[in-house]
Amino acid sequence: MTQASFFEALSEGAQATRVTIHPAMTHQAKLVFWGVRGSTPTPERDTWRYGGNTPCLELTAPDGTQFILDCGTGLRTLGNRWTEQANGRGIRAHVLVTHYHWDHIQGIPFFHPFFESQNQFHFYSFQSKYLGPDSLKKVLEAQLASPYFPVDVSMMTAGRDFREVAGGDKWEIGGTHITAAWLNHPQGCLGYRLDTSGGSVVYATDNEPGPAEFDLNLRQLAHGADVLIYDAQYSPEQLASERKGWGHSSWLEGV
Ligand SMILES: [Zn+2]
Ligand SMILES: [Zn+2]
Repeated sequence: MTQASFFEALSEGAQATRVTIHPAMTHQAKLVFWGVRGSTPTPERDTWRYGGNTPCLELTAPDGTQFILDCGTGLRTLGNRWTEQANGRGIRAHVLVTHYHWDHIQGIPFFHPFFESQNQFHFYSFQSKYLGPDSLKKVLEAQLASPYFPVDVSMMTAGRDFREVAGGDKWEIGGTHITAAWLNHPQGCLGYRLDTSGGSVVYATDNEPGPAEFDLNLRQLAHGADVLIYDAQYSPEQLASERKGWGHSSWLEGV
């Protein structure tokens, strides 16, 4: 199977939820939820309303800068959409990855724009103590290694650069200010805040409340934000009992 036919064979699907952050502002930031499920894709009927893909969000700042937040299976549908819209023109985006658990990276091999040489992607993630320097680069290479995937990493022809960030870091991309903070999750997880001229978004998946240091990180990151995207994997009852210590939160803690 050629690379092209492989990607054509991946069917379109899944609807996405769109949010305009400040509808009254002329310069708007737009947020699209391409995947919202934790741990594993969930194609069952009772998840159809918000879709069954794992985490992937698209944020477009008012100046047109494009961000991808996490690379779960929702990334595949975003890639199909972008490829269609670009119609051969180059795509450029900044990809912020929170951590390396499967549900946040498993869309990478299926994102068509990574396999087109006219595209350019800037990746941001932390150095995992399990993977060492270039952690995210190593993750990409491992995912495409034989015999796990039919397309080799050498076919990933889009320009790619990788920047290591850590909790407490602040940097700027275009007109958007980014802040990273450590969350409480097994093997580490970063939360990101993106302050655009059209509003602020905090992306804080995968966090278990409790330890004072991490709770403070999250409260500071989320302070005054327009949109907080937060982990609500468990019910308050589960979080208080059998799921305590699993690294996740509940809707109640989010509120
Ligand atoms: Zn997760
Ligand atoms: Zn996780």
